[in-house]
Amino acid sequence: MKINEDDLKLIIENVLDKLGKTEGKIENSDSLSTEKSSQDGIFSDINSAINAAESAQIEFIKLSLEKRGEIIRNIRQTILDNLEKISKMAIEETSFGRFADKIEKNRLAALKTPGLEDLEPTAYSDDHGMTLTERAPFGVIGSIIPSTNPTSSVINNGISMIAGGNAVVFNPHPAAKNSSNFTISLINQTVVKAGGPQNVLCSIKNPTIDSAHILMEHPKIKLMVVTGGPAVVKAAMDSGKKVIAAGPGNPPCVVGQTADLEKAGRDIVNGAGFDNNIVCLCEKEILAVSQITDKLKEEMKKNGAYELKGEQIEKVTELVIADPGKPGHEGAPNKKYVGKDAYLIARDIGLTISPETRILLCEVNKEHPLVWTEQLLPVIPLVRFDCIDDAMDFALKCEHGFRHTASIHSKNIATLSKMAKMMDCSLFIKNGPNYSGIGFGGAGYTSFTIATPTGEGMTRARTFTRERRCVLVGYFRIV
Ligand code: NAD
Repeated sequence: MKINEDDLKLIIENVLDKLGKTEGKIENSDSLSTEKSSQDGIFSDINSAINAAESAQIEFIKLSLEKRGEIIRNIRQTILDNLEKISKMAIEETSFGRFADKIEKNRLAALKTPGLEDLEPTAYSDDHGMTLTERAPFGVIGSIIPSTNPTSSVINNGISMIAGGNAVVFNPHPAAKNSSNFTISLINQTVVKAGGPQNVLCSIKNPTIDSAHILMEHPKIKLMVVTGGPAVVKAAMDSGKKVIAAGPGNPPCVVGQTADLEKAGRDIVNGAGFDNNIVCLCEKEILAVSQITDKLKEEMKKNGAYELKGEQIEKVTELVIADPGKPGHEGAPNKKYVGKDAYLIARDIGLTISPETRILLCEVNKEHPLVWTEQLLPVIPLVRFDCIDDAMDFALKCEHGFRHTASIHSKNIATLSKMAKMMDCSLFIKNGPNYSGIGFGGAGYTSFTIATPTGEGMTRARTFTRERRCVLVGYFRIV
């Protein structure tokens, strides 16, 4: 039998692949890693990364809190010094989003992710003596990173988890591995320069779904944190390990008749257009009371929305929706258009519009697939309702019960409270762009892992720690 060059390559790749997987299984049961050195935390196989992280964590936890605090301060500075570089890498590798918005996301993660201050110990004292509660690390955490925030999620998880005294093994998205891994390396170099151990953050050169599963099942991984769509959340939940899961959303944005329409129009375009809508919490559908809809659309158009009509809406739907799903059920977007600029999407339906356009606005009916699908791109459906109660009832349906994010523009405090309660979401934003919910122009800290399915919400350093209590009976009251 004659074997041509391509067949030979395929055979060799298959053999290497099998060897790699077998190694993974053997090591998973007995963890005999051989790869000792890495390029700033980036290993060629996941078991070596796990073992290195385990050794690093043992050393890391010996450092003083003061040193841990200094390391975190230096990490923040390193990210600020490299904002342009990592933002450019993320956009070039994934072709998702907008450069200026990526800079803001990375800056936000560097500056507003809580550090050690989030771990404040608590003490109780009464007639029985004194009780102290402190927060301890889990050890080595496994973290699965999405393609949509490949650098900001690493910065955010990295700072939070290190602040908690943990080491981390990341499994980045295969399509965003270089920018995630570069960010991990930068952080590792900073830790070492500040006097910490090597490999506090680890990853692998070529992450895959298989390596994610090894991570999920590995006995040395004490906590799994996953940020992504429904498949990875389900896989992690099925692993039997303790999981913190940040899953998908489909945030509805309701606009009532009392809203400040000038502000609402501007906020919605800024929010829905942020990083071309690839952020899970961005406004994904607008549900407006009919009486104010025309004025709202006018305000949106003044701020960078371009309204599509009739046949244009049909064409754009065909383009960006791969599977239309059905009312009450999600479909799937066409990956080719995820995170793309609005003007490029418009170009593909034969429309030339300004590259400054932030969103393509489409007024549609309630059954339309644009409403039910988490598209992660700047084509934004708008539906009219007779009254605000109908809009809010519909918001509950098209959010699919994810309980992730929802928002409202209204000055009626009864309406604001009613919707906040009925949506029951991890994030609820009143009278602002949705991104203000993660501390970008809104009060409070930031998180890029909003753990809705498992209930932790906006994760932070304390989320990644174990609470430990020590009780001294009969002494230590000072009064
Ligand atoms: P994705 O689900 O395709 O991938 C996310 C990560 O999971 C990747 O690393 C991928 O390799 C891994 N993965 C996917 N399927 C897996 C499986 N079956 N087993 C093991 N690993 C698997 O998501 P994406 O396109 O990278 O990111 C967008 C999705 O993530 C959206 O649904 C968005 O809403 C969600 N997201 C949520 C949050 C949040 O905080 N809740 C933040 C960012 C993104």
